[in-house]
Amino acid sequence: MIPFNKPFLTGNETKYIEQAVASGKISGNGMFTKKCQHFFESKFGIKKALLTTSCTDALEMCALLLDVTSEDEIIIPSYTFVSTANAFALRGAKIVFADASKHHPNIDASKIEALITKQTKAIVVVHYAGVSCDMDAIMSIAKKHDIYVVEDAAQAIDSYYKGRPLGSIGHLATFSFHETKNIISGEGGLLAINDERFIERSEIIWEKGTNRSAFFRGEIDKYGWVDLGSSFLPSEVIAAFLWAQLENLDSIQNKRKQLWNAYNKALKVLAQAGHFKLPQIEEHASNNAHLFYIICKTNQERQALIEFLKSKDIKAVFHYLSLHKSSYYTDKHDGRALEMTDYYADHLLRLPLFYELELNDIDYIVSQIQSFYEN
Ligand SMILES: *Cc1c(COP(=O)(O)O)cnc(C)c1O
Repeated sequence: MIPFNKPFLTGNETKYIEQAVASGKISGNGMFTKKCQHFFESKFGIKKALLTTSCTDALEMCALLLDVTSEDEIIIPSYTFVSTANAFALRGAKIVFADASKHHPNIDASKIEALITKQTKAIVVVHYAGVSCDMDAIMSIAKKHDIYVVEDAAQAIDSYYKGRPLGSIGHLATFSFHETKNIISGEGGLLAINDERFIERSEIIWEKGTNRSAFFRGEIDKYGWVDLGSSFLPSEVIAAFLWAQLENLDSIQNKRKQLWNAYNKALKVLAQAGHFKLPQIEEHASNNAHLFYIICKTNQERQALIEFLKSKDIKAVFHYLSLHKSSYYTDKHDGRALEMTDYYADHLLRLPLFYELELNDIDYIVSQIQSFYEN
């Protein structure tokens, strides 16, 4: 069976974990945490990076940092993972779901402004498949209306908008190291703070509402409870694992891009024959090969293809179900139809893509897709 995903180990994970354990400090914010955070700050131009236990937690930190309350509205794409919206719903905010664009599952930037009201506090954008949203348009709308932008860059490590690293553009941004992402630590995430006004409070929220980080730096002589917060930092064991991955970022990205390009090239003939659509990457965006998908003509055809591939020992999957139609949110949604969101939810199919996949696996997968469409 060719699985949909297989977590890749670089080989140094357990070595670094042993080092972390031997150092005698295995709680958070130790040497490996600092190495990982510094990596993001220096490579991606992020003002302050904080490791978190997940991207979900980093998004919850964003909601706390922005003082989101039940008075606020947050604009969020409906075509995304639950956490993007749940983090803000947890603080009681009204989620105003935005539609995807015609050419890409990303948020349609041209339709955001119509959703802004006096209550709007932030726009959360998701760089789907690691491909950038239209950040100039989004940042200028936010500036005009004096609201914040959070980038959910869970899928977008080492990807760029007009040459600028994703996660360095919005006021705040979040990354994921879940085992399905390009760079992994099992579970794990990172909060990126690009607006300096949030730096001091972010460390307090990260450290359970205490000013312990400032205490450890020797800036104050005792620490205590100064704000809201929670237990958002991962242990050094997780950070050590993550460091082994980050050290190999370039080779991981190169291999994934090679596989992505092989799919894209081999499937072109079938796409040109009109059987399905291939991913479109706009001029402004780079591709970090987070995932490879095709867009089927109908929902029935997608289901038939999934079953056909399964019979050939290939696991292909779809996602996301439209959040505005989810059982939790459907009666809270304002009733607007989000056509493109439903379109991607019903038609998009993801093919296996992981580091250890080989080019001949791709040949096999493509030949099976071919035989599906030939019959
Ligand atoms: C994976 C993912 C998340 C959640 O990440 P975790 O680290 O598992 O919390 C959030 N948003 C998007 C867009 C994702 O792809």
